[in-house]
Amino acid sequence: MRAIKTTCAYCGVGCGIRAVVTGERSVKIEGDKAHPANRGSLCSKGTHLGETVGLEGRLLHPMIDGERATWEKATADIAARMQACIDEHGPDSVAFYVSGQLLTEDYYVANKLMKGFVGSGNIDTNSRLCMASAVAAHNRAFGEDIVPLTYGDLDHADVILLVGSNTAWCHPVIWQRIERAREANGTKLVVIDPRRTETAERADLHIPVKPDGDVALFNALLAAQDVDYAEVAARCELPEGFVESRTREHGIESQLFAELASMVASSERLITVFSQGANQSRSGTDKGNAIINLHLATGQINRRGAGPFSITGQPNAMGGREVGGLANMLACHLGFGEQERASVAEFWKTDRLCCGPGLKAIDMFEAIHSDKIKFLWVMATNPAVSLPNAGRVREALAKCPTVVVSDVMADTDTGRFAHILLPALGWGEKDGTVTNSERMVSRQRALFAAPGEACADWQIVRDVAHAMGHGAAFDFPTNASVFREYAAMTQLSVEFGQKLNMTAWSHRSDAQYEAMEPFRWGGDYPLASGASTPSGKPRLIAVTPPLIKAFEKERPFRLNTARYRDQWHTMTRTGHSPKLAIHRREPLVEIHSKDAQALEINDGDLCRVSTEQGESIFRAAVTKSVQPGALCIPMHWTDIMAGSGRTGRLASPQTDPISGQPGFKDEPANLKRL
Ligand code: SF4
Repeated sequence: MRAIKTTCAYCGVGCGIRAVVTGERSVKIEGDKAHPANRGSLCSKGTHLGETVGLEGRLLHPMIDGERATWEKATADIAARMQACIDEHGPDSVAFYVSGQLLTEDYYVANKLMKGFVGSGNIDTNSRLCMASAVAAHNRAFGEDIVPLTYGDLDHADVILLVGSNTAWCHPVIWQRIERAREANGTKLVVIDPRRTETAERADLHIPVKPDGDVALFNALLAAQDVDYAEVAARCELPEGFVESRTREHGIESQLFAELASMVASSERLITVFSQGANQSRSGTDKGNAIINLHLATGQINRRGAGPFSITGQPNAMGGREVGGLANMLACHLGFGEQERASVAEFWKTDRLCCGPGLKAIDMFEAIHSDKIKFLWVMATNPAVSLPNAGRVREALAKCPTVVVSDVMADTDTGRFAHILLPALGWGEKDGTVTNSERMVSRQRALFAAPGEACADWQIVRDVAHAMGHGAAFDFPTNASVFREYAAMTQLSVEFGQKLNMTAWSHRSDAQYEAMEPFRWGGDYPLASGASTPSGKPRLIAVTPPLIKAFEKERPFRLNTARYRDQWHTMTRTGHSPKLAIHRREPLVEIHSKDAQALEINDGDLCRVSTEQGESIFRAAVTKSVQPGALCIPMHWTDIMAGSGRTGRLASPQTDPISGQPGFKDEPANLKRL
């Protein structure tokens, strides 16, 4: 039996897999030793991918209003409904809400249709919930959304700071790499996290930062370093007042802070890995820039073993960012400036290009409530569960005149609101490319034939574009032809001084695309030759700590949210694996033992957690891993599965004003034993 090289379906580590198909719907999975991202390692989720490829619960045919329909009818219906909305209410009355589970080819075609031919910026992705703050921080500091180093640098750092990342659970293969570096080189590990997670337990130093205390901490860390700002000004844009903006209050026990500051000062090669704990915040962009500031000012960037490293949640969050899947990007790292728009319009040969940014995720669903959006197409994501204030999102979905949902599963919380349901391909059937957290592009390859009438997302969108009369611009016979066009379009990125460049792939054949080996765009240190700013210098950004919310009498706890080690998103796939259920069988609310004692709560008691948005039931886990006054709940459970543990219903829709990313980590809450 032949092994097929593909990429894991889950997190942004982007591990390579050797898959041996052993039957009609069965596969043996092992890590690909030749893949640079994981060199043969896999975590529990990747290892058990074979348990999730069955057809149980799959959506196999298009459905219109609950009745089976042909693709011709569904495609024509979507095109007609979308065009009617555009004609009657304008292009901004339609919206796509897409996902980091889409492949780059899917993203490219969806973005082209919405921004280029519908003429609206209203395409946004669930990556908005994951790393939009890191994107905004990169753009402010570097002039482009660039991760300036690679996983290989983790092998060479002497100090690694992990900020807001339970890496041992959420990015396990990166964790294994860090552990190997610690063992081989004595690398010191510091975890900066309000929770004492499994990762924090195993660190050399745990800094129990207060919720949203990261900006203050990194400002103070920078203030504690011996920095020659005249030298910094020679290589960075240094705004007036920056030095004074480095506040010194850090909110950490002084001995701990001194130890951390000394570790940073003596480090020759410092990496700061940051993830959702930093990004999912009302000050997420400032947190990213506070981290980047430290690296720029101390020269800990653009060389081996040093740099700020944003790691993403989803397998193709980066590919989506690259093609323009966020509502505030146009395409290929370009914005909405007059010249950029003109170049994109010429490349796509369209006179309908959107005029400016579209609505970001939270605003998109609010626009349904205010009757501005009347047509919504959701692809490969489950916003009725995963968006904050999910109860209000459900009301929006119920109210929207047309909801189209493309998904692999027949029954999802979001699919229940669909007028038109479209069967998409899942992992093992999809075929295309993804980009991981270190800018490595890899192939995800099909292992099985498409079940029933399921179809690739890029093909579905292409066919709708044809039905709307845009066939000439969507003449994509293969996934390879989509990738070639995307690669050719990155020439525009180069012309506008950006580093995103895949033009080498613009003339390669379908056979070369099929045989593609993993490659990284931008090289190992893309900013070493200069930033993508007009001056060519990276920018230090003055950031000030946010106001911390006061405790409320009715809601005296701060509610945090997290992932479990063996589950993924809303469990539509990992929920099928019995082995993955063993680690955590139900959603738990973690509460500090002091608070539990005061409230007479015992381990295993059922409790009601309530916030301004709603309430839900969880079983108590009495622990010391959360701080007194804090609670923590998992993000995975849905209404369909459990009827309890519904985190999305509790989370606030308030967002970071720069990135539009909602904060999931610091919500006033109450808890009562049932
Ligand atoms: Fe998949 Fe991420 Fe685990 Fe790698 S670390 S096997 S990409 S879930």
